[in-house]
Amino acid sequence: MNIHEYQAKALLRSYGAPVSDGRVVLKADEAKTKASELDGPLWVVKAQIHAGGRGKGHFVEPEAGEKGGVRLAKSVEEAADLAKQMLGRTLVTHQTGPVGKQVNRIYLEDGSDIERELYLALLVDRKTSRVSFVCSTEGGMDIEEVAASTPEKILSFSVDPATGYQPFHGRRIAFSLGLKGAQVKQAVALMGILYKAFIEKDMEMLEINPLIVTDSGDLKVLDAKLGFDNNALYRQPEILELRDTTEEDPKELEASKYDLNYIALDGDIGCMVNGAGLAMATMDIIKLYGAEPANFLDVGGGATKEKVTEAFKIITSDPNVKGILVNIFGGIMRCDIIAEGVIAAVKEVGLEVPLVVRLEGTNVELGKEIIANSGLNVIAADDLADGAQKIVKAVKG
Ligand code: GDP
Ligand code: MG
Repeated sequence: MNIHEYQAKALLRSYGAPVSDGRVVLKADEAKTKASELDGPLWVVKAQIHAGGRGKGHFVEPEAGEKGGVRLAKSVEEAADLAKQMLGRTLVTHQTGPVGKQVNRIYLEDGSDIERELYLALLVDRKTSRVSFVCSTEGGMDIEEVAASTPEKILSFSVDPATGYQPFHGRRIAFSLGLKGAQVKQAVALMGILYKAFIEKDMEMLEINPLIVTDSGDLKVLDAKLGFDNNALYRQPEILELRDTTEEDPKELEASKYDLNYIALDGDIGCMVNGAGLAMATMDIIKLYGAEPANFLDVGGGATKEKVTEAFKIITSDPNVKGILVNIFGGIMRCDIIAEGVIAAVKEVGLEVPLVVRLEGTNVELGKEIIANSGLNVIAADDLADGAQKIVKAVKG
């Protein structure tokens, strides 16, 4: 789960990290009062969406101005005007996709004078099963681009969980970022704060881009992006409170209500599969035969007819879906439950695209019989390859 920048900064501030004073604005008419609570003489007006690259993004509506979702203002009035312009508009960045995201919250921040922009991140490194620090002198830009063109400018190392964070970790970062004197001490303290917050709040990603050196020579967190481990949210109630469901894919949101493992993708073949491994294999084989999956979906072992029905409804609600492949290897999951769920869903929402069903395993005969007697226009498949070929053919002709 991700949270907004202003929420991330409030959290890091509570741990003692240096962040600027700021105010969140939800309604246009509160913009001026909020802006006047900040000192100036520079104000930063920041669109709050769960996507990066806001500064270089652009708005769909001309009324919001062509420029990006992070703008500088020289007065309270200008800051309030910019906030009003951006509220309710659609911001497109390289992370939102071409449709963009509606801006419903603005963060007004006391502006900083920047001497240098640095990059810093903490993340769970799955290779070493440890928490890693990543830093670079090339802050403020796309780190993926830095990694691709000048990888030598990125330093990354992991922290031994037995010792946890140690001051030498912070010094290593400070020296690699070219920090001097008092800044080294600040970096050692800040890295300790960030590591502590990361562990205590069950984060999976913490990215500060940029971490700046101000013109008075101090370190400051200028942008903050935090991601939390969904599997740990049960023990992070105060983090869960920060969830903004308007930022989530409505299909994924719906799936999470029914405890379905669903991830929306860009392709046109909807997949309903049991078991994460089989779901991955199904996506691979769809690609092998020349098409792209529209989603990952593992309905799980103990799914009920109702859960299968919801899963099927979520798949068909995706306007990109041009065909559906149901691929079930019944173990704990019974093929007849899947068949009943599919039929119930089709009765409710109809079926306007080709449907290929491959059933195998527990109660397979019963499942096939239920589908055969349903009068549904279903293409039966014998195995995984056969199913994938049939759905790709049905979609592509
Ligand atoms: P992002 O584009 O979504 O990553 O948003 P950021 O919060 O990183 O802001 C983008 C850029 O705006 C930064 O890299 C800075 O160059 C600039 N910026 C943000 N805050 C300030 C500020 O307080 N003062 C100045 N001068 N520039 C800022
Ligand atoms: Mg940034």
